[in-house]
Amino acid sequence: MIDFSVEPEFQAKLDWMAKFVREECETMDLLWPEQGCQFDPSLKSARDHAKPLQDQVKAQGLWACHLGANLGGPGYGQVKLALMNEIIGRSNWAPVVFGCAAPDTGNAEILALFGTPEQKQRYLGPLMAGDIVSCFSMTEPQGGADPGVFTCKATLDGDEWVIEGEKWFSSNARFATFFLVIAVTSEGAPLTERMSMFVVPAETPGIEIIRNVAIAGENPYEEGAHGHVRYNQVRIPADHILGRPGEGFKVAQARLGGGRIHHAMRTVGKCQRALDMMLERAVSRVTRGRKLGDHQMVQAKIAESVIELEQFRLLTLKTAWLIDETEAGRMPHGTPRNHIGMCKVAMANVWMSVIGKALEIHGSLGISLDMPLANWFGGGMGLAFADGPTDAHKSQLARAYLKKAKAVEGMFPSEHIPTRLKAALERYPDARPEGVPGQGRL
Ligand SMILES: Cc1cc2nc3c(=O)[nH]c(=O)nc-3n(C[C@H](O)[C@H](O)[C@H](O)COP(=O)(O)OP(=O)(O)OC[C@H]3O[C@@H](n4cnc5c(N)ncnc54)[C@H](O)[C@@H]3O)c2cc1C
Repeated sequence: MIDFSVEPEFQAKLDWMAKFVREECETMDLLWPEQGCQFDPSLKSARDHAKPLQDQVKAQGLWACHLGANLGGPGYGQVKLALMNEIIGRSNWAPVVFGCAAPDTGNAEILALFGTPEQKQRYLGPLMAGDIVSCFSMTEPQGGADPGVFTCKATLDGDEWVIEGEKWFSSNARFATFFLVIAVTSEGAPLTERMSMFVVPAETPGIEIIRNVAIAGENPYEEGAHGHVRYNQVRIPADHILGRPGEGFKVAQARLGGGRIHHAMRTVGKCQRALDMMLERAVSRVTRGRKLGDHQMVQAKIAESVIELEQFRLLTLKTAWLIDETEAGRMPHGTPRNHIGMCKVAMANVWMSVIGKALEIHGSLGISLDMPLANWFGGGMGLAFADGPTDAHKSQLARAYLKKAKAVEGMFPSEHIPTRLKAALERYPDARPEGVPGQGRL
């Protein structure tokens, strides 16, 4: 039975969150707007301000809600997490205040699943407490969507791994206490067995941040948050491998699915905020003697945004439900894969479309930096690339459906009406003694 209602106890939590995010997290967005500063542990004023807010979140039982009970989190499941992330997604600071910011969320899952007890104590504990941040270092300058061209390698030398090579767009590298690095350990092996995942402490000699790259929506004169990193003969103990040698992709997959759906959930929140702004402007501003909302083009934009957002929200919630059902063992492993791909593909389009329309309805004010819309719009394409480009996911999704399709035998498609009508008449020759319209053309 499909039921869209929310239990009153959980709705009360969501109501608390909505007020808290509006009053506290959005206020932090205004006070600490510098790019990437949510992740900068050295920004003491922000950290000091965030700490009591994080304590309030913990007291409400809403901290680190992405982690299941088996991994030390409250285990709300993905459907409830989706409803929570819709609220969290409204603010840049909220993910940090609620202990569920990427890439730390996925990195925590990897450590919880594959880390040694010592690594968990050293990194997972502080990461989950919100005391440190981490970096996931996979993409390379010569290729992101194609790991077949990765060259950063790790070789075993006695009881140490030695990492050598470059990575690109390693988000939060400059703030991280540790890096999760994927590197080639078995050159020439099939792709799925070629790489391994390592945990690399940030203080290890040889880690060089060449540059911190900024993206659209950010100030080009400020340092960005996406590190171009060079690993120069970086030596780590042999036990700093996560999983077995050659299992790097398997380990990486543990984080990528979750990351994609969490971004989708938060996209709903950001687009809802843009829609709220669109509606407020449409009933506030008058042009040519009428409210903006009385002009049909503006009405079309509002209606299209409402529909796009509702469609995307339902897709995200269904995907969350599929993940919960699969994790509970009621559906086979891998069931949500296509739906996660659908969310990934739709996400950037919905973001750009709804935020773009909100910006347009605000006119010059919308494109100005006095409103947040232009920066949000600028950052939207980032969603299309982070965790794999939209086009690659589109292609993967199409191939998954094509694999299920069966070629028709004969000249015409299986839905060809004359062919089907002929078969129907053969099956029921006396059903229409007066004849069927079109029968003469058979
Ligand atoms: C905001 C942001 C944060 C990021 N954070 C991290 C991070 O923390 N760690 C990390 O390792 N990486 C990170 N990345 C990098 C991200 O994973 C890559 O951008 C992504 O994998 C694509 O790689 P690329 O940029 O090299 O693009 P390319 O691989 O060069 O792809 C460019 C274009 O080629 C086409 N294309 C490529 N492959 C295919 C295909 N298979 N099918 C169809 N078309 C295709 C698509 O049009 C695609 O957009 C981040 C990126 C962004 C934007």
